[in-house]
Amino acid sequence: MDLKLTKASIFRRWPIAVILACVVFVVWSTALIASAHRLQRRQDANVQLVRNLSSVEEILHQLSNMAPLPQGRRPIEKEYSQIRQEIDRNPIYGLVRDLMPRVDAGVIEMSAIQHRMQYPDVSPVALLELKRALEAQADIAVGAAGEGLGRAREDEASVSRALAGRLDQMDVLVVICCALTALLVVLFAQRRRAARALRESVSLVNATLEATTDGILVVDLQRRITGYNRRFLELWRIPPSVAVEGDNSKLVEFVASQLADPEEFRQDVERAYLEPAAETHDTLRFRDGRVFERCRRPQRIGEEILGTVRSFRDITEREKAVEALRLMESIVVNANDGVLLTSMDTANREFTVFFANAAFTRELGYEKDEILGKNAISLYSPDVDLAEVQRLASLVARKEPCRGELLLRSKDGSEIWAEMSFVPVAGPSGGYLIVIGRNVDERKKMEHELRKLSRALEQCPVSVVITDLEGRIEYVNPKFTELTGYTQDEVRGQTSRILKSGDTSPDEYRQLWETIRTGEWSGYFHNRKKNGDLFWEAARICPIRDSRGVPTHYLAVKEDITERRRIEEALAQAKESAEAANRAKSEFLANMSHEIRTPMNGVIGFTQLTLQTPLTDDQRDYLETVESSGHALLRIINDILDFSKIEAGHLEMEREPFSLRETLEGAVSTVAPEAMGKGLDLSWDIEPAVPDALLGDSTRLRQVLLNLLGNAVKFTARGFIRAEVSAETVSGGTAVLHFAVKDSGIGIPPAQQQTIFEPFRQADGSTTRKYGGTGLGLAISSRLAQHMRGRIWVESEVGRGSTFHATACFGVAATASETAPERGERLDPDHPCLHVLVAEDDPISRTLASTALAHQGHKVITAANGVEALWLLEQRQFDLVLMDVQMPQMDGLEATARIRKREARLGGHVQIVAMTAHAMKGDRERCLAAGMDDYISKPLDMGQLLAMVAKIALAGSEDGALSKEHS
Ligand code: ADP
Repeated sequence: MDLKLTKASIFRRWPIAVILACVVFVVWSTALIASAHRLQRRQDANVQLVRNLSSVEEILHQLSNMAPLPQGRRPIEKEYSQIRQEIDRNPIYGLVRDLMPRVDAGVIEMSAIQHRMQYPDVSPVALLELKRALEAQADIAVGAAGEGLGRAREDEASVSRALAGRLDQMDVLVVICCALTALLVVLFAQRRRAARALRESVSLVNATLEATTDGILVVDLQRRITGYNRRFLELWRIPPSVAVEGDNSKLVEFVASQLADPEEFRQDVERAYLEPAAETHDTLRFRDGRVFERCRRPQRIGEEILGTVRSFRDITEREKAVEALRLMESIVVNANDGVLLTSMDTANREFTVFFANAAFTRELGYEKDEILGKNAISLYSPDVDLAEVQRLASLVARKEPCRGELLLRSKDGSEIWAEMSFVPVAGPSGGYLIVIGRNVDERKKMEHELRKLSRALEQCPVSVVITDLEGRIEYVNPKFTELTGYTQDEVRGQTSRILKSGDTSPDEYRQLWETIRTGEWSGYFHNRKKNGDLFWEAARICPIRDSRGVPTHYLAVKEDITERRRIEEALAQAKESAEAANRAKSEFLANMSHEIRTPMNGVIGFTQLTLQTPLTDDQRDYLETVESSGHALLRIINDILDFSKIEAGHLEMEREPFSLRETLEGAVSTVAPEAMGKGLDLSWDIEPAVPDALLGDSTRLRQVLLNLLGNAVKFTARGFIRAEVSAETVSGGTAVLHFAVKDSGIGIPPAQQQTIFEPFRQADGSTTRKYGGTGLGLAISSRLAQHMRGRIWVESEVGRGSTFHATACFGVAATASETAPERGERLDPDHPCLHVLVAEDDPISRTLASTALAHQGHKVITAANGVEALWLLEQRQFDLVLMDVQMPQMDGLEATARIRKREARLGGHVQIVAMTAHAMKGDRERCLAAGMDDYISKPLDMGQLLAMVAKIALAGSEDGALSKEHS
């Protein structure tokens, strides 16, 4: 700092009075001393004068004595002239000088006289005269000298007085002088001390200001620089020459260019001049990024403002540090990892939380206030690994940073795995502990999963191979090494070609690679082990994709199927033979049923025909027994056939529109005669919510209902039988219906309630004899219910009755076309008769059908095969052809095809109804495809046959298509 400390500045503060007094005193004392000096000189002159005049008087006396001058004595003139010269030389002898000519004259006269007197030739008279003249002259001169002496003495006296006065004054002067001197000495000492103190403080200030890192500038109100320190010049990069000039305006211009906003700076400087008393504190930003802190304070003496003091501090680094700190704080506050700051008292295990960032509180479900002040140890789960805690605690106690994985407990009690880092920081009273925690719950779970998966892979009973996208093996599991005999190291980096046996064609490999690039491939490999053995593998290969769906590896899972393949091959052979046997069995069953039914048809049909002829009562009884036995036998045969069809998987369910009410009514009315015969109360009910128009296999439903109703009638001696239908669900075009058939019969013991649904099982061996039956009915019903996506079960109490439940699923017919066809109309005896051609090779069936139709008034002509039938059709017109399917020479299918072909040429359409004992899958379709209109199965049910013919007759009469006249 260039602070100027001058004498003037020091003395400026001396009192003016003292200075004035000093001046006055000096002037006065000088005048006094000069005056005293003059007086003293005059006094001295006077003394000398008196002495000289006394000498002159003495000389004059000597002269006047006229005595010769003693020998050795100098002549008087000489002495006198010396005195006279002295008097003349001394200017202050003025007071006697005007007397001296008279003395001189007297002396000269006297000298002359005396001189003459000394001459021997002078007469005594003359001598006397001379002596008188001498005395007269002496008197004159002495008188004059005496007068001068008197004056001199007077003057000496007055001078002495004056001198005495002066001396008195000089005494006062000395006293004053002493006092003043003392005062001056005191003041001077004080001033010296003050000046020293001032210098000391100035040097202190200077040293301090030079020692400070702030730049200081002092500017007076006239814009002159009155002070600055070196740091100021350094900070602002000002050459000393600019500062030395002392013009602040130049300085401002010099520095303004460095600032980011020079104009603002200039305005600010101007404001400082306008408001010198203001104290400001702000920051200045530089173009080059520096930042200064600026303080401005007025420079005052008392109330007077001399200028302003500005201090500048380079806070660039501090700003950066603050910015960095702010960033750090923001990082900590917003970090994804939880951060805690705790006190550290390892001895008492006290780690009091005084900071927790949002991530920490969020993870543990606390509010910030709840976690602050807590001991961090309380955040551990009770199940935390204590050994790990101990290990970390001892490292923390040794002030070593450490990390570990610990189980924490959140506020709601749930547990969280966290990876915790502990950083002890030195500080007063134990220091601090920085705790950084990261939720690794997911990772832990994944690790757990990974361990599980890896164990699964290790223990997997099939080979697992992971390859890169080029097919190079990266991993094989132990099963692979066990199977192939290669070690992990032997196969790693190799391709699967290592196992190649050469049996798989390159084409297959190409196809494999093409497939797995986009999806999964599965197939078989015939591979070679390390020891050369061949083995079969069933393999599935698929790409392993990353989170974006990009394939990164391939995974092959392979199972050694050598043994299985061997068994399969054996099985395939066995199956083939079994299927052959099964086919033979089915054929056998079909043939048998055909073979048994055909004669049965004859037995029953002719029994029925015979019953229509006149008979004795006994004959009628026997024949009726024959008929019912025949029906019973047919039922048994049908059951066995049905069951074997179901078991062989040949059962096909229809899906056709039908009326539920009609189906139920039909079943109920079938058992009605027998029930009424036993005096049972038979009733049925359909809940209103149950849709009537359904899609499904009504025949099979009827079969189930008939079986349940038939059993109920069979096992109930008195009481009631009731059939109920309710809807379990009806939605989306599907109805699940619940059928219940209740009776008050004998009931079934609990032990048998399951077994009765198995084939050939009856509740009690003894019932078989009493009630009859094959034990197949419920087994068939239960399988049919399953085919209708339902089930059958029973609730029963011995002696009180049983309820058989069945459920089944049907479509709900939505459109008019899907309504059930009318069926079962009774034959009207008045309707017009039909011309019917019965084409049937079996004479019994042929006769049976033709007799039955003839009984109804129809005109029947028969043919024994397809060729005959065609010929007859060419000869005359028929309304209906009953066409057997299996016939010699030309079967029914071919005959029908030819008929239709001919009709296509000539027009017309004869109704053709197929008759076939092949109640097997596909029969109906084949018949309809050949051009037949309907289908009736053999053995012929006469009722069914007649009903069908009646229906055709009715339809024909309505549209007038029946042949009116046949030749
Ligand atoms: P089947 O009646 O031909 O013997 P099912 O399979 O129809 O064969 O019936 C098996 C057995 O279940 C019957 O023999 C009978 O013991 C018992 N059973 C069936 N229905 C009833 C019923 N409603 N009341 C009592 N027992 C019944």
